[in-house]
Amino acid sequence: MAGDEIKIEDISKPSKQMIKLRLEDLMPLPPPYDKPGMEPELTDPKPEWREKYVTELDGYIAIDVPFKPKTKEEEEKLVKSFLEGLQKLVSKEGNWTFLQPLLLSLEYCAKCHTCSEACPIYVSSGRKEIYRPTYRAEVLRRIWKRYLTPAGKTFGKFVSGDIELNGTTIMRLAELAYRCTLCRRCTQTCPIGVDNGLITHEIRKLFSQEMGIAPKAIHELGTVQHLKVGSSTGMTPDGIKDIIEFIEDDIEEKLGRRIEIPVDEKGADILLIHNAGEFLSWPENPAAFAILFEEAGISWTLSSEALGYDGVNYGVWYDDVQLARIAVRHAEIARKLDVNKIVIGECGHAHKALTVIADRVLHDELNIPRESCLPILWDIVRKKKLNLDPEKNNFPVTLHDPCNIVRLMGIVEPQRKILKEICPQFREMSPNGVYNYCCGGGSGFAIMNSMNFPEWRAKVSVRMKCKQILSAFQDCIDPSIDKYVCAPCSNCKGAIRDILEHYQLTQNCSIYYGGLVELMVNAMVDLEEPFLEF
Ligand code: SF4
Ligand code: SF4
Repeated sequence: MAGDEIKIEDISKPSKQMIKLRLEDLMPLPPPYDKPGMEPELTDPKPEWREKYVTELDGYIAIDVPFKPKTKEEEEKLVKSFLEGLQKLVSKEGNWTFLQPLLLSLEYCAKCHTCSEACPIYVSSGRKEIYRPTYRAEVLRRIWKRYLTPAGKTFGKFVSGDIELNGTTIMRLAELAYRCTLCRRCTQTCPIGVDNGLITHEIRKLFSQEMGIAPKAIHELGTVQHLKVGSSTGMTPDGIKDIIEFIEDDIEEKLGRRIEIPVDEKGADILLIHNAGEFLSWPENPAAFAILFEEAGISWTLSSEALGYDGVNYGVWYDDVQLARIAVRHAEIARKLDVNKIVIGECGHAHKALTVIADRVLHDELNIPRESCLPILWDIVRKKKLNLDPEKNNFPVTLHDPCNIVRLMGIVEPQRKILKEICPQFREMSPNGVYNYCCGGGSGFAIMNSMNFPEWRAKVSVRMKCKQILSAFQDCIDPSIDKYVCAPCSNCKGAIRDILEHYQLTQNCSIYYGGLVELMVNAMVDLEEPFLEF
């Protein structure tokens, strides 16, 4: 089935797959990707996966824990636990974080579909009905109305619309909760403020908190490992000390002098928390921060205590309990170090988790000021604390706006003011700022690599960002010109790295990527060799 003619009630009807994606249906890409043969074909799920995992939605598997019911009893048990979880989700006692916006979003939707065209997943997929922002919201709304409200229990489908709650519905809804990056671009356009991104989040929460169903990458390897070992990357306190030493050596090589990176310094003004992925995949990013903060005379420290060096909090995407556990540990570490504030490095997830959502968790002495690094970085440039030469960055640069920093927190200007000062060929993506599109790796997608999920991410989730990047560089798309996508977010960098790999944008168009601080250090007059390596 192509998937354009699907109805809400079809989610309950058993079939091998509700839809099958076809390359020719997907949103077209700009030149040189407008010709056939420029991108890999789509594949079918392996037959053995179908036995164990849920391929009945679109053939892709985000949830790599088996929960398919094998018998009638198991199916009944699944339905029962889902309804119990939903009951909790809509109760004051069971939902201490988002009850009010959830109920408002469930109660009101004018079915105007203004939100659909705002959704990069829906549009990139070739407008497949199941990916419409309202589709999963309407499934949950109908189940709630029909099975949990007095009117629905009495009048059935006459108040709720037609839907049957069975094992198929639940399995598909669980997978469908991982076909949305929670970017909330749909929410921004809704004339009455319905938050379909929040509804998706709440569905994930129901499955995780009440039924123990969540992708391993964000639960087992994400939050559980973070709490147990100290980082979602598996990096231990000893490991981070080794990496910091390595970064100091690297700085010495590039700068010609050694910078001692402050670690566990009590009474510093700032506790800087990075996404630990930076230390492993992009150590040049924490290195650049160290250079900038030292040169600008900022009082700061890193923490080597478990959790203190990893600002990621995957709980923010699927489980409020896990979110709270991690946020509290971050605040406790800052309190022990007696810093004035926590500053979040280039990580959008950490921005959302610790500076916004943690407000619901951190009270009294744990309510330590928490802020973004971006205004501090702009301050360094604005007050001319460094000697910067824009000519050193004289190549085409565009900016990706991370959803959580920009749309959610409204931090729009500092990063582009910096780029306008230090990158003569800076150009905006279109649209940009709070209207920008998600990188496609949001809500945990960038690290979810189960079975064939990376293919779905590459073809659907990141497609809009790929289109934006290519469009921004159309005037210089020739591979003889090196180009740079600036993404001040570790997670977004991961997604953009995947885009460049899947579509071979580096080989075909000489497009590279990196963070913001790297560009700042690259512009430093004092630096003899370029900091950026293309
Ligand atoms: S939150 Fe983003 S990805 Fe999810 S439905 Fe809305 S626009 Fe689409
Ligand atoms: S969520 Fe808002 S924009 Fe989307 S269909 Fe409902 S009322 Fe319209």
